[in-house]
Amino acid sequence: MRQRRQEQTPVSPQQARKLPRAQSHPQKVISSRPTGPFSERRRFERGPLSIPYRLRFQGKELSGYTEDISSHGLGLVSDPYLSLGTPVSLHFSFGNLCYLNISGQVVFCCLIERQGQPYHKLGIKFSASRDFDRKILNSSIQELQQSPATQKTSLLNIFVSEDSFGLEAAELSISQPTLAKESPFRCSPVMSRRSSLERAELVPRLKKIEYTAAAAEARREWLSAKTGATLKHIAAFTEYPEKMRGNIENLIGAAQIPIGIAGPLKIRGRFANGTFYVPMATTEGALIYTCNQGMLLLSLSGGATTEILNDEVHIAPVFSFESVRRCRQFLQWLDRHFPEIKEKADSTTRHGNLIRLEPQIFDKNVAVKFCYTTGDASGMNMITFATEEACKYIVSTTRPQKYYLQSNFSSTKKVSFHNFLVGYGKSVVSEIVIPGSLIKWVFNMSPQDIIDYYQMVKLTTTHAGMIGISGHTANALAAVFLACGQDVASVVDSYIAVTNFELDKDNSLYVSVKLPSLLVGTVGGGTHLATQNECLSLLGCNGPGQAKKFSEILAATVLAGEVAICAKVANGTFADAHKKYGRRYRPSLFAQPRS
Ligand code: NAP
Repeated sequence: MRQRRQEQTPVSPQQARKLPRAQSHPQKVISSRPTGPFSERRRFERGPLSIPYRLRFQGKELSGYTEDISSHGLGLVSDPYLSLGTPVSLHFSFGNLCYLNISGQVVFCCLIERQGQPYHKLGIKFSASRDFDRKILNSSIQELQQSPATQKTSLLNIFVSEDSFGLEAAELSISQPTLAKESPFRCSPVMSRRSSLERAELVPRLKKIEYTAAAAEARREWLSAKTGATLKHIAAFTEYPEKMRGNIENLIGAAQIPIGIAGPLKIRGRFANGTFYVPMATTEGALIYTCNQGMLLLSLSGGATTEILNDEVHIAPVFSFESVRRCRQFLQWLDRHFPEIKEKADSTTRHGNLIRLEPQIFDKNVAVKFCYTTGDASGMNMITFATEEACKYIVSTTRPQKYYLQSNFSSTKKVSFHNFLVGYGKSVVSEIVIPGSLIKWVFNMSPQDIIDYYQMVKLTTTHAGMIGISGHTANALAAVFLACGQDVASVVDSYIAVTNFELDKDNSLYVSVKLPSLLVGTVGGGTHLATQNECLSLLGCNGPGQAKKFSEILAATVLAGEVAICAKVANGTFADAHKKYGRRYRPSLFAQPRS
C-alpha cells in the first residue's frame, strides 16, 4: 500500500547516532564544488526539513536527520560514503499524515566537516516516483513545515540496496574518495565530477528473481525499447535460467554458436584412449574442415600419443613492507608457517590442495605464488577463495603495509614468459609420427616440404617477438572451450604452444605440440550448463575424474590442427579451403565491378 495513516516509531536518543541537526551547526563543505547536478541541489535546498532517519547499510544501522526534502529528492548528512548511482529504497512515515514508499538513487556525496568531524553530505534523487506520490509528498512537506511536533514523530527508513549493480555501473567513472592522511578533510578530486548516469540508463534488475525467464524477458523488452533491436533469437534458448546462476549476470538470453564435429581422432594417451569425435563451436568457416583433415591423418597414422607433464595452478598475492630486510624476514616466516597457511587455504575446499608457496621479492614487495592442484576444476574461483582465507591469517599475523590478493605475477588470462616456462594449469604434450606416404597421399607433398615451411615460421615468429611457436593453436582451443563450457578468456593462457616438425626415420614426419599452460576443467565454471555438458559427454568427459582425459583430447585436437594448417600453407591450398568453406557468399554472387 502506497499511502496509509499509521502510528509513528520515533527514534530514541540512544538509537540516534547524534549527527548534528540541520541548520543548528555551521558546516564546512570540504569538496571544492557541489558534486551533484545543480538542478538537483537547487531542488533539495528549497525547503530545509529535519526528519529523523535510519539508514541501513551493510548490516549496520545509522541514524540522523534529513537536511532538506522536496518532491524530487532529499539531502542528508551521513557517516558512510555512498557511491553515486547507489539505489536506495525510502520508507517515509510523516507523523500521522501519511506513509510513503519511494525508490531513489544517490546523485551526490561530498565530504563536509561538522564539529571537527568528517561526514558525507548525500543527495538522493527520487526515481520512478509517480505524480501521485509527488503530490502527497508536496502536501506533506507543507504541513510538516508548519508543524515541528509532526516532524519529531516522523521517520524515514532508508535501505541501501544490496544489489550493487547500479552502483558498479555508476562507479565506472567515479571512484570512492579516500581521506588522505595529510589533509583529513580533503575531498578526492574525482568527487567533484558529475555522475553521467541516470537511473533510466541502468540495466533493470528485479530483486530476488534474477534467474527467471520473466526477468530475462523484462530486460529484453527494456533493451528493445531503448535500442530498437529485436531480440527474437537471443530469447530462444532451452537452458533453465536458474541453472545459469553463477555463470552470468543481467541475463537476457543465450548466444547460438554453431557447433560442428571433427573426427575420428584416435588418441593413445594415458587418460584419453580411443577414438573421439570433438565438438567445436565456431563461426570461422574452414576451421573444422582443417582440423578434421588433420585428425584423419593422425588416426591413419595410428593415433596421437599424449602426456601430461605437470598439473597445477597458481595465484600470486603481493605483500608490501617498509624495507627489503622485512621482506626477507617475511620469507622466513612463510617458510616456518606453511602448515598453518595450508590448513587455512585447504579449509575452504574439498578438492583444492595448496602444495607449496613460491615467494619472490620485488623491491619492498613480496609476490607469493600459491601453487595448487584443483582436482577436475580449472580452479580459478577455488584458489581465489582459498588464498584469500590464507592471506587473512598471513596479514593478521605479519602486518604488511599493504596486501593485494591478485597481482599480474600469476598472469591469469595474460601471456607471460613465466607461465610459458613453469606452466599454468596442465602442461600437456601430444606427438605423432606420420608416414611420408600418407603426407604425399593427403597433401601431395613430402614431409620435407612442411619442415621447410616451418623453418621459415620459426624465423618469422622470432622476428615478431612471439611467445611460443605454433600455427593456429588458439583456433581449435577456442572452439572446444566454447562448446565444452570452459572460460573462453583462458584461451589467452592456453594457446601458448611450441609446435615442432622433424624428419623421422623412413622419410616420416615427427610432429609434436606442447601446451604448457592449458587451463581446463570438467567440473565447475560453465561445464554444468546443458549444451556444454552435452558436448563434454560426447567426449566422455563430463563430470569428476575427467579433466586429465579432456586435456589430452585437447592437446591431440590442437596437434591435428597444427599438422593440417602447416601442410595446407606449405602446399598452397590454404586460401582454397577458406574460399570454399570460409565464406557465406561465393564471390560470383555478389561481386560488383569496382568503380
Ligand atoms: P567453480 O565452479 O567455482 O568451483 C568448482 C566446484 O566444484 C567447487 O565447489 C568444488 O568443490 C566442486 N567440485 C566437485 N567435484 C570436484 C572435483 N572432482 N574436482 C574439483 N572440484 C570439484 O569452478 P572453479 O574451477 O573454481 O572456477 C572456475 C570459474 O572461475 C570459471 O567460471 C571462471 O570463469 C571463473 N574465474 C574466476 C576468477 C577469479 O579470480 N575468481 C578468475 C577467472 C575466472 P570444492 O571447492 O569443495 O572442492
